[in-house]
Amino acid sequence: MSGTPGAAGDLLTGPARTGPDESDWAAAVAAVRRLPADARVLLICHVNPDGDALGSMLGFGLGLRRLGVRHLQATFPGPPEVPEPFRWLPGLDLLVPSTKAYPDPDLVVCFDAASESRLGELVDRLDTAGDALVLDHHASNTRFGRVHLVDPAAAATSVVVDELLTRLDVPLDAEIAQCLYVALTTDTGSFRFEATTPAVHQFAARLLATGIRPGDISRQVFDTRPFGAVRLFGEVLGRARLEPAAAAGNGLVWTYATQDDLARHDQRPYVLEALIDSVRCTAEADVACVLKQVGPAEWAVSMRSKGAVDVSAVAVALGGGGHRFAAGFTGAGSAEDVVRSIRAELDGALIAR
Ligand code: AMP
Ligand code: MN
Ligand code: MN
Repeated sequence: MSGTPGAAGDLLTGPARTGPDESDWAAAVAAVRRLPADARVLLICHVNPDGDALGSMLGFGLGLRRLGVRHLQATFPGPPEVPEPFRWLPGLDLLVPSTKAYPDPDLVVCFDAASESRLGELVDRLDTAGDALVLDHHASNTRFGRVHLVDPAAAATSVVVDELLTRLDVPLDAEIAQCLYVALTTDTGSFRFEATTPAVHQFAARLLATGIRPGDISRQVFDTRPFGAVRLFGEVLGRARLEPAAAAGNGLVWTYATQDDLARHDQRPYVLEALIDSVRCTAEADVACVLKQVGPAEWAVSMRSKGAVDVSAVAVALGGGGHRFAAGFTGAGSAEDVVRSIRAELDGALIAR
């Protein structure tokens, strides 16, 4: 899950960029409105999709369907496996494996992806598509499309989706609301993070007013996992290490999970996404990291900060991206190699500040 608190004002990556202006919104609306009746539209969210990526993409897809778009696909790079917690989402019938995605759609729309690298093997669609729309909320977004609706102040990409659907005169219904609610709760940590503004609660109120059931949704998305994952978490948390002197004395806590750990407990990689939440609660550390092995010498790294460190600056320096308090990158070498590179960047980041 991508905890994505108050994204505005990255201390180390320059001043916060402002959100879309009226001409951006108008261009996005026009890109949808001018689609011919037989247009093929391809929706893409980032690799290893989280609740915001899937919820924003499927919610927008359902909206396009309501507008009468008939040739519509949703996809993401990598294996076409939807994490179990999201397997009930409305709009899943739009999903196709990346290998089956339109090679040259009339319009491609990207969701919650800060950079092209997050689109994996689907990145070529940015060139082959007739038009390319980017919906996102990462301050580090590299503006890789043609029309960009990127709002670093938005708590989730679903906030941007909601605004675009409103401008397209698509009424909010319970199915769209379920998708956008999953996205919103995922990225605000269930309304706990800094980005939880009055506007976020007002958005949530509109979603709930469609009759969706927040208790059921939260249980499925956040509070359900196989017993094997519970045992796996126990093992991985048991090997967590606390380094109080790291990050210039602000403290670092980290752990790692290998592919062998997953195999021993018969678990799928996505169960590890929730691990960071059990690590970042460590009182003695400002920064928390979880290294998830994705290849023999390759690790998907999740980082969280309580505020002293801008982890997006660390992630960007190491080839990734994210937000001030929640970021990630892909690291190479042993787990110890990757942690060494993080330690070095953490010290550098704090000195720069
Ligand atoms: P995660 O730890 O996977 O929940 O990701 C936290 C935040 O960092 C999210 O906003 C992600 O979009 C971003 N992020 C994670 N991994 C990467 C990466 N390899 N490249 C760019 N951004 C990333
Ligand atoms: Mn995401
Ligand atoms: Mn997001």
